Amino acid sequence: MNKNLARLIFEQGAKRRNPSLFRQYDELKQSEWLGKEALHEVQLKNAAQFLRFAGKHSPYYRRLFAESSFDPKTFSDFDDLKVVPETSKGVLISENKAVHAQDFDELTRIAETSGTSGAALEFRRNERWDSLNRASVMRAYDWYGVKPWDRNGYLWGYNISSRQAVKVKLLDALQNRFRLFNYSVEEIGRFSHKLANASFLNGYSSMVYEIAKVINENNLERPALKMVKGTSEMILDIYHRESLQAFGRKVTSEYGAAESGLIAFECPQGNMHINVENLFLETNDQGEALVTNFASYSFPIIRYNLGDAVTLDNSLCECGRAHPLVKDISGRKGAKVIGTTGTYPALTFYYVFKNLALQNNLLMSYKAVQSEPGKVTLLIEDPANKKHEAAVQGELLRYFDGDIHFEIQYPDKFDATRKKRQYFESTLKS
Ligand SMILES: [Zn+2]
Repeated sequence: MNKNLARLIFEQGAKRRNPSLFRQYDELKQSEWLGKEALHEVQLKNAAQFLRFAGKHSPYYRRLFAESSFDPKTFSDFDDLKVVPETSKGVLISENKAVHAQDFDELTRIAETSGTSGAALEFRRNERWDSLNRASVMRAYDWYGVKPWDRNGYLWGYNISSRQAVKVKLLDALQNRFRLFNYSVEEIGRFSHKLANASFLNGYSSMVYEIAKVINENNLERPALKMVKGTSEMILDIYHRESLQAFGRKVTSEYGAAESGLIAFECPQGNMHINVENLFLETNDQGEALVTNFASYSFPIIRYNLGDAVTLDNSLCECGRAHPLVKDISGRKGAKVIGTTGTYPALTFYYVFKNLALQNNLLMSYKAVQSEPGKVTLLIEDPANKKHEAAVQGELLRYFDGDIHFEIQYPDKFDATRKKRQYFESTLKS
């Protein structure tokens, strides 16, 4: 599609669905290069306005603020907020009606999160919240010279029926994107040929990896892309190697969830910058990320525990943006590995394989699965190799100290549902 036409269609869609999108994008562009202090001022101002609103309009937070003696009217620093208890997904589900703002007349739409960890959460998202989220993504795309209406390849969802496919193709065409419908080498070949005329690729990172690998192994066309964006899951080191070879780019990561909005986006220097204009990210005593989203007027998200272990870093990035950084995002929803005598954070696997990559130059696509205490099946998507296996077992021993028996299996290919999100899965209650 012609670039001007694509932009026009995008703008028309935004006018209808996200009328405040471009205004909010302009605002974000204005604060993009602010220094740390000025950014912090913007953050505090937006937080104060939002917290006052939540304390007034959300019955749940009105009660919570009163119980914890937090007065949003006197809010002047994020330390003030620490008296307010964390909110979990369970609370957002059980208190759903009371969390929603009353007497709020902005246009809202239903948003839903399914997630792997059980219950679904449904909430109403106001227009400015949805638009701000999109505006934040737009600003981050700018870092790569990419516009959302640029031609792009899309890797999402399996199993689209042929009846759905017609509709999906039409919607995709309007958004100037195309997707892969099946994963045969021929299809991937056609897809990579199309990518040669696209500016970016977008999708689940494990799928990006899968496609890149097929392209490299079969010597298919290698399109040079401006950005390869991986979503919704852990990006393993091995993904970068294949992606670099196939597309000339590492997999760029974003961090966020439907209820939190876009939290951080990776800059070309490889650092994840937090969107501090619109949210506050802190960690609790367990090192888990808590997010307060200042745009979430219709359904206030305050000190919401995402269940991710993260490290916050206030150092300056070479790219010149002063937005603080978030590092080592790992371990969704408090997953624990259960040993015979002890328990271990799922994050441990991340370190085990990080070490193997750094010390032994071993890049692996892996997945750990536990269904009984003291035993873990480690799936490695590679041909069996005794030497590598010894290195893996050695590293595992260092961290788990023999408390867990690891059985290593080499499935031919991870099945799609299995690998979709996490590098550790457990059916045990931790
Ligand atoms: Zn940066």
